[in-house]
Amino acid sequence: MAQRQFQTEVNQLLNLIIHSLYSNREIFLRELVSNASDALDKLKYLTVADEAYKSISFNPRIDITFDKDAKTLSIADNGIGMNEQDLTESLGTIARSGTRAFLEKLSADAKKDSNLIGQFGVGFYSAFMVADKIEVTSRKAGEEKACLWSSDGKDGYDIEEAARDSQGTTVLLRLNEEGLEFANRWSIEDIIKRYSNHVAFPIYLTYDENEYDDKGKVKSSKQKTDQINSGAALWRRPKSELKDADYAEFYKQLGHDSDDPLFYIHTKAEGTLEYTTLFYIPKKAPFDMYNVDYKPGVKLYVKRVFITDDDKELMPTYLRFVRGVIDSEDLPLNVSREILQQNKVLVNIKNASVKKLLTEFKTLADSAAAGNGEAKEKWETFIGQFNRPLKEGLYQDWGNREALSDLVRFKSTAAEGWTSLADYVSRMKAEQKYIYYITGGDEKTLRSSPLLEAYRAKEIEVLIMDDEIDDIVIPSLLNYRREQGGADGKSESQTWELKAVNRSGADEELGEKKDRAAEKEIRPVIEKIKKALGDRVKEVKLSRRLHDSPSCIVADEKDPSIQMAQMLRAMGQTDMPEVKPILEVNGGHPIVASLKNTEDEIRIADVSSVLLDQALLVEGVKLKDPADFVQRLNRLLAG
Ligand code: ADP
Repeated sequence: MAQRQFQTEVNQLLNLIIHSLYSNREIFLRELVSNASDALDKLKYLTVADEAYKSISFNPRIDITFDKDAKTLSIADNGIGMNEQDLTESLGTIARSGTRAFLEKLSADAKKDSNLIGQFGVGFYSAFMVADKIEVTSRKAGEEKACLWSSDGKDGYDIEEAARDSQGTTVLLRLNEEGLEFANRWSIEDIIKRYSNHVAFPIYLTYDENEYDDKGKVKSSKQKTDQINSGAALWRRPKSELKDADYAEFYKQLGHDSDDPLFYIHTKAEGTLEYTTLFYIPKKAPFDMYNVDYKPGVKLYVKRVFITDDDKELMPTYLRFVRGVIDSEDLPLNVSREILQQNKVLVNIKNASVKKLLTEFKTLADSAAAGNGEAKEKWETFIGQFNRPLKEGLYQDWGNREALSDLVRFKSTAAEGWTSLADYVSRMKAEQKYIYYITGGDEKTLRSSPLLEAYRAKEIEVLIMDDEIDDIVIPSLLNYRREQGGADGKSESQTWELKAVNRSGADEELGEKKDRAAEKEIRPVIEKIKKALGDRVKEVKLSRRLHDSPSCIVADEKDPSIQMAQMLRAMGQTDMPEVKPILEVNGGHPIVASLKNTEDEIRIADVSSVLLDQALLVEGVKLKDPADFVQRLNRLLAG
């Protein structure tokens, strides 16, 4: 009977892994080797950065051994090691917030869950798929005592004192029936080559080499130890030596992803600064892309020595989906993680990396637009997954906003699929001054908004911005600038202002108000409505944008939109001052015209109120007093 119980989440996870990951069970070895490699990275870092560890003589390596008869398989490293407390915290609880998030997403569908597991990298516990019992002997660097952690993966775990010659960790698996196939030289080599070939430390396999007599019986047996991975930091090798498959394999290990990457960008910079970067774009957005505590995807190395994989500042947040490695020749090895951010060298590498990524994205977009089929497919996947974070960049990264404004995509009234601002501009009529857009609701609501009627009639394209984030970032974009090759071969730039159609002021291009006489005739009606609505509206105006609908609402150019204000209030911003809409009415509409010849105050109040409420409803705004709306509507219907 075990003395200590797993955290309940661990039990859940164990059950799940064993049931849904089964067909993929060889990944346990990748997980254990990754852990060993991380432990070596950590100690290597300390031995260069921390006085207290400098005396440790350290030849980092990972050793795999097996015994078919005893049914065991062990993975040992001479890395940082764990003491009793580490063992309890790391192997008795779910240490990673990502794993916890994963548990929250669990469904009853085993197949889906196993895909999720691929994305999360479940780590150590996956070894229970192939073992009845696991024994971890570990000694932490700089400490004398070693401990043995053991568990059957069901009843909790035990920790007792043990002996180990030097720092490091040995994970011994007591293999179950299904695990026996892994006590075999060929399958171990095969798995390591497939998943862990580019682990930066040597992985050795110890096995017996038998000689056989002519009857096929073992004559003699010799123990041999071979390195079975290639062991080179892949990003340091010349591009010409590497195949797509090498890049993909490294990515899977680095990015904890079971899928191939969408594409990669491998750059070696020489000159004032010397560094190598290898960046990957995943096919699917990382599961935690919208969590505040997302795990950063880029690792920092200095001269091949791992420094950190937990620094969110290595990439701007809007590029948090990028996976990869930055390896610098010019940073001091003992640079402290805290002051990394102020380091000029790193800042320069970062800036250059961001520029490089954005340029590559643009190249992909351009070759997709030029009709390259493969590029098109990649670009569609890319923008489908990462349009949103790139839009965040529009307000986070002012320095790159021109590049970003060429990457983000929108829906449009003039074309199917994605539209870029450049597409919009190329379709613009010669005399058109502004880029028009509409925000504040889902696609369907926006497309059927009465605000679009006049633009449609005049064949002016309007961008449909139905993504929540559009409302926040687009108003800050203000204008779109583009360099263009001028007639004389020099490039010139042109700038277009963006205008929301649901704002006052966006209607200046829609033409003059109808004839003066008609306007004069409708004036008293506007006055009546204004009086009836009182302070529910900021203003009542005769509209230039309406064709078929009787009314619409717009926001003052300086106000946030009504939908935005409502969203902010729902998010807890209670001190938002109330934003009042401007009501625009269609003078030619019979409902509006019907107010000309009546002085019946109840009827005027009913019609005015219904004109306002229906305009709000169409824009997806919730009515404050729905009962009042229904009552007035019924009175009008009854005549
Ligand atoms: P992950 O590696 O994703 O964090 P694991 O479940 O594989 O999750 O491991 C949990 C933790 O246990 C690790 O984060 C690490 O702190 C510790 N650990 C696992 N294996 C080793 C090892 N060989 N040496 C030192 N620490 C280890």
